[in-house]
Amino acid sequence: MEFTWLKVPQWEKYETLLHGFMGRRGGKSVGPYAGLNVSYRVGDDAKIVSQNVCDMKQAVGIHDGRIITMKQIHGDQIIDVKDRNIKEAGEGDGMKTGEKEAFLGILTADCVPILFVAPEEKIVAVVHAGWRGILAGIAPKMVRLLNSQHGISPDAIEAALGPAIGPCCYEVKEDVSRPLVERWGKIAELCIEHRDGKTYLDLRRLNRAILEQAGVPSKKIYDIGPCTSCSPDEFFSYRREKKATGRQISFIGWAS
Ligand SMILES: [Zn+2]
Repeated sequence: MEFTWLKVPQWEKYETLLHGFMGRRGGKSVGPYAGLNVSYRVGDDAKIVSQNVCDMKQAVGIHDGRIITMKQIHGDQIIDVKDRNIKEAGEGDGMKTGEKEAFLGILTADCVPILFVAPEEKIVAVVHAGWRGILAGIAPKMVRLLNSQHGISPDAIEAALGPAIGPCCYEVKEDVSRPLVERWGKIAELCIEHRDGKTYLDLRRLNRAILEQAGVPSKKIYDIGPCTSCSPDEFFSYRREKKATGRQISFIGWAS
């Protein structure tokens, strides 16, 4: 079975690091969830979702260990994963771990999935960062926690921003753009585009900008994959479908 599995070229050198941004290709779900839907919370058949997770783990080489996810709520809660045998870490939008064989997963359908790695310390982290997560500052919060709790300097952190809705498609109203500008000022303004009397937001660019402000070097932040809304064959997009749709998964962890 052929999956869409995007990887960070700069991370190929970390031999035991398994990671990727999966698309919708290759799963067994049907209808609006076709095919690699990995969410149990969007109305899809749970048995098929389990099968999808299983098939995808095989495909990416996760033979031992679990993919650990969260009940994501568009906030800034970050969970420390200390037990690699759990399937769900609780309610939150970020996780970090130093455990081997613990593969952290983020589910998205337009929001930005961010994978973090500190290669020296072998720590990995994930964040779910749509506009609410950006407003709450979840990505820089992760950088601060990696520093304060693990002693990792921001300039030793690498971050990959996965497939998300782009400024080509993500029209927003004032209720979104205004609080972002109030919170992030000039850097938010630079990520808001005006075309034909409409306002569009560049979620990835804004996440990148606030990560850079938090001290992560620009050259260690990678943009991976296209706009989800522009890629109906490859990725789920909540905004494009305007109704029931699946969720794709992004994951990272050290096999050893
Ligand atoms: Zn687009």
